[in-house]
Amino acid sequence: MPVKGLGPYDDTNIFARILRGEIPCRKVYENDHALAFHDINPQAASHILIIPKGRHISFADFSANASDAEIAGLIRAVGHIARILGFDDAGYRILANMGEHAGQEVPHFHIHLFAGHPLGPMLARSAG
Ligand code: 5GP
Repeated sequence: MPVKGLGPYDDTNIFARILRGEIPCRKVYENDHALAFHDINPQAASHILIIPKGRHISFADFSANASDAEIAGLIRAVGHIARILGFDDAGYRILANMGEHAGQEVPHFHIHLFAGHPLGPMLARSAG
């Protein structure tokens, strides 16, 4: 089922280009199934993006179609990064925007990891 405004997978999306090494990133961590790097426009003192290496458009796509190994690789990467960067003690937030209502901009699934200070309320209420 296609998601409005996303898909089919676009191999020219910015994260596909980062994965191919065509565009630089500030890499934090990598395993067989995931790559993590600093967000170019950080919304917190630490703002890291964790992406699967496979061609997955969104959380809807990833959760339905990724292999168990890909899912484990991505989720374990998130926990590992938070641990090695020392975020476990004070805490952090993870978030994934999926589709139009969430404002997903890049059509390659990614998890945001925010940390470094109190992060405020979970959602700001927006019009509509
Ligand atoms: P979304 O709104 O899709 O959940 O989040 C996309 C994120 O990708 C945004 O936080 C944006 O700042 C980040 N981003 C967009 N282009 C680039 C880029 O070229 N490099 C990096 N590192 N982050 C990017």
